[in-house]
Amino acid sequence: MSIPTQRPKMLGFISEEVSAWLVAVVALVVGGLLTALLALAAWQLYQQQQAQRFELLANERYSRIEERLLDQTQRLDSLRRFFVYAQEITRDEFDGYVRPLLHRSQAYSWAPRVSQAQRADFERQTRELLGRDFSIRELGEGGVLQPSQVRPVYYPVLFSQTLSKLPPPLGFDLLSQSVRRDALNRASTPGSIAVSAPFDLIGVDPAYARGMLMVAPVFAPQQPDPGPKGYVMAVLSMRQLMADGLPSAEEDNLVVRILDLSAAGEPEALFQSGNTVGDSPLEMRQVLHLGDRSYQLNMFPSKVFLDGDRSSATAVAFLGGLLSLLLSALLFSLFSQRQRALTLVEQRTAELRISEESLRDTHNQLRSVLEAATQVAIIATDLHGQISTFNAGAERMLGYSSEEAVGKLTLEHLLLPQEVQERARLMSLRFGREISSSQAMLVDSVPDIDEEPGEWTLRRKDGTHLSANMLVTAVLDEYGLWVGHLAICIDITERKRVHEALEARDRLLEKLTAQVPGGIYQFRLDPDGSSCFSYASEGLRDIYEVDLMLLRQDATAVFERIHPDDLGRVRYSIRESAEQLTPWREEYRVQLPKAGLRWVRGEATPESLPDGGTLWHGYLTDISDLKRVEEELRALSVTDSLTGIHNRRYFQERLKTELERAQRGGQDLAVIMLDIDHFKHINDQYGHAIGDHVLQNLCQRISHRLRRTDVFCRLGGEEFMVLCPGSNAAQAHSLALELWQGLRSVPVEGVGRVTASFGVAGWRPGEGADALLLRADSGVYLAKQGGRDRVEAEQF
Ligand code: GH3
Ligand code: MG
Ligand code: MG
Repeated sequence: MSIPTQRPKMLGFISEEVSAWLVAVVALVVGGLLTALLALAAWQLYQQQQAQRFELLANERYSRIEERLLDQTQRLDSLRRFFVYAQEITRDEFDGYVRPLLHRSQAYSWAPRVSQAQRADFERQTRELLGRDFSIRELGEGGVLQPSQVRPVYYPVLFSQTLSKLPPPLGFDLLSQSVRRDALNRASTPGSIAVSAPFDLIGVDPAYARGMLMVAPVFAPQQPDPGPKGYVMAVLSMRQLMADGLPSAEEDNLVVRILDLSAAGEPEALFQSGNTVGDSPLEMRQVLHLGDRSYQLNMFPSKVFLDGDRSSATAVAFLGGLLSLLLSALLFSLFSQRQRALTLVEQRTAELRISEESLRDTHNQLRSVLEAATQVAIIATDLHGQISTFNAGAERMLGYSSEEAVGKLTLEHLLLPQEVQERARLMSLRFGREISSSQAMLVDSVPDIDEEPGEWTLRRKDGTHLSANMLVTAVLDEYGLWVGHLAICIDITERKRVHEALEARDRLLEKLTAQVPGGIYQFRLDPDGSSCFSYASEGLRDIYEVDLMLLRQDATAVFERIHPDDLGRVRYSIRESAEQLTPWREEYRVQLPKAGLRWVRGEATPESLPDGGTLWHGYLTDISDLKRVEEELRALSVTDSLTGIHNRRYFQERLKTELERAQRGGQDLAVIMLDIDHFKHINDQYGHAIGDHVLQNLCQRISHRLRRTDVFCRLGGEEFMVLCPGSNAAQAHSLALELWQGLRSVPVEGVGRVTASFGVAGWRPGEGADALLLRADSGVYLAKQGGRDRVEAEQF
């Protein structure tokens, strides 16, 4: 399986090695840039649209205002024509004509020309006409109207129609004030219209006070005249012209300002709308004309205008940013998920590759094993027993080639039919159900039967037979299904022969050892101190009364049987034999459950083992009988046959032992020697036999009087010795006196009183046996000399 080395690319161009973070950041940055561009475009479009809208609004406002100014001019002109063509105009006619004209104007007035000569008549006629006081007046101190000074000509206001609730300033001479006069002067030709400089209107609402006077001269038709016969006037409030009928300041999109351009110096602002100018560079300037005057109209976008027209750039930026963020998160999630998936795939692929390689290795190893196993026949079959694998070992063992066996032979074909049938019969009996011969052959593959690999007789191609151990196991496929069998056969013909020879040898050994008294064994002592009988013949069972199988593992049971007094010695001698590699020989007692105390003799030869242990080969015999005979002989050798007490040899042995002990331990030791008086006479008088009887009788009596520790011996003839371990000379002396009394006080039946002479000696440190005995002997001698029948005190 090959893994493509070229890594796939996501979306066709992004390598998947790239971190999901990087992709997410790039997406975010690109998204951010696009959003910024979009927001910029939106902003620019907004600016453009705003400018266009402003221009539209401003142009419209300009047109409206211009139209209003033109309208005012036309209205005044129509009033003038009314006066030009009428001969005589009454106040009512004036009012009737003017009232409809009063639209966006404060007032319309008519001021006829009155010369100084006509003044009095004019004032009088007007008084009559009005029915109240009337005079030509002018503005005095404090802005109060007062009768006018004398001037050659007057233009007093005669008719006036106003919207104001204040009374019209009738009689006010227009020439009396410079602003008005100036306007009148400029309107001096027929058809001309002049507009005064701005001034505060009288009798008008203060909010509307800043205004101007528009005047038009009225000339009499076809009558040349040095001046106009009067003036028609319109009183205009700039505020009224500019604001009335237009949106209120709070709602107006435009901030409007109008400047008087005709005045000299800094132009005065005649009107300024009350709303705030928005923060924008937009502005429009237009020039307006009214009469002979020019005004500049400045317009700016108001705050309301700007507020009402918000840019979508912020929303675009916000939404774009949000989208970029979402896109970036989406890409991050996509990339990281995909990368995780790819890593997983990579891991799985690597694992797969490793297991594939290991499988291949295992397969190769198996094949090698199959080929190399020339001593083992490995035969695989399918479920029907048909052979599918026949290795080199099988070819060598059975004589068939692989081609001859595979697909052509069955496993059963290689076995002896009668043997297979016999096994099947036995198994049927054992399991209580019918076992076919093919099942019997595979019995080892049945999991719940725990058996050693079976021994079978196989048939070679040439018809000869061989013995083999055949182990048949089930072959399972990867799903655990039984797909066949695997038989492994090992030729055991040679092994069997050797085994039989060994068995024969064992039997021989057993027979031979059965003939040998005791048992033979192989004893092994390991470096860690543990020991076992690696071989023990049947004889050992009787010697130790132990289970021989147990001894194969552990020799402890044997050591438990050994008499405690002998155990230390036995262990010591074994250790010594192991260390010195000298033959081991030991006689010791064993305490057996059935036979009781027995004597055992062992002899063995050691050899050292490579692991540091020691191995003995030897034999053990029960020497209890021998020991008993030995004991009896020994007893006989130290016993006096006539009297039954110890003889001279025993005395000498015992004296030596006791002397050694006395020398070692500083204990007391004493001897009593006695010799029967005139024994020769007894023999002579009663015969030798009676003499013997006397000897026996005396010995019995003395023995009875002695302590258990005292040793009574016949030195020879009628001479005796008592060895007293633990007694000093004085104690021995008193004992001797007791014995002396005992003898002499009781007569021997048929013989009468028999006496003896006693000598005593206590052992002295450094003294030898001879010196001690000599002193005792001297005592006896002195007693004889002294008249016999006495105890002589210790001699020095
Ligand atoms: P005394 O010691 O008092 O001087 O006199 P005695 O007769 O005992 O002297 P002596 O020691 O010389 O004699 C010992 C005799 O004991 C000599 C021997 O015939 C006798 N005799 C030695 N052994 C035996 C024995 O086994 N049986 C008998 N019946 N007599 C023995
Ligand atoms: Mg004697
Ligand atoms: Mg004697």
